[in-house]
Amino acid sequence: MSARAAPEIAHREIELGGVRLGYRLRRASRRTLGFAIGASGLTVSAPRSVAQAQIDAALQRKTAWILRHLAAQGQRHQAQQAARIEWRDGAELPWLGEPLRIRLAPQLSRTLLQAARPLTQEPATLLLALPAGTAPEALRAAVQRWLQRQARALFEARIALHAGAMGVQIRQLRLSSARTRWGSASSDGSIRLNWRLIHFPVETIDYVVVHELAHLREMNHSPAFWAIVQAAMPDHEQRRRQLRDGVVPVFD
Ligand SMILES: [Zn+2]
Repeated sequence: MSARAAPEIAHREIELGGVRLGYRLRRASRRTLGFAIGASGLTVSAPRSVAQAQIDAALQRKTAWILRHLAAQGQRHQAQQAARIEWRDGAELPWLGEPLRIRLAPQLSRTLLQAARPLTQEPATLLLALPAGTAPEALRAAVQRWLQRQARALFEARIALHAGAMGVQIRQLRLSSARTRWGSASSDGSIRLNWRLIHFPVETIDYVVVHELAHLREMNHSPAFWAIVQAAMPDHEQRRRQLRDGVVPVFD
């Protein structure tokens, strides 16, 4: 058996809808053309044998799709930048899909969560028993600890709710903080959930919980796996989209 040849990457340009666009052309062992838009722009994956003229023609046919997705990616990047939190008294961040305001409360002896006040449009407020002038880094660490405690308590409650209904049992819950991964499950029955999920509404968090619990029965993404997810959560696709489109604050 010969080793599979590594893909070759080239940088190309094309004019699409009056826009001069650079893209990455990835030649690999595959049968069809593929188009992907990510943080670094457009990538075209092509079989080694396809002529450049055919790739150009395919790009022209996909112009509307490409320009639309590049624009959306640009907006997403801007939203990510806006999600950079300035760690000071009065800072706000998303918590369970709603804004949470952070206040320094030196007069308090322990952290206090104040519910939102819809009449005056005050968001929920987290009062931290920290001195005025607390350094941004210490404030960030205190908020992160509080969010992680909240996340663990909420995840345990949601797992208890869904595991019973799905007929599975978990051995252990661990919190993770990976930038790009929301959860994982191991065949030993342990589950990892990203504490940053606490920024999302509970219905979005529930999708990740159900997804990982379903892996305790099917350790793959086969039709059998998705049938378990579907049975437990008929609107899982919509929730999955909320997870993908959501913007999570940058904590550093
Ligand atoms: Zn999965």
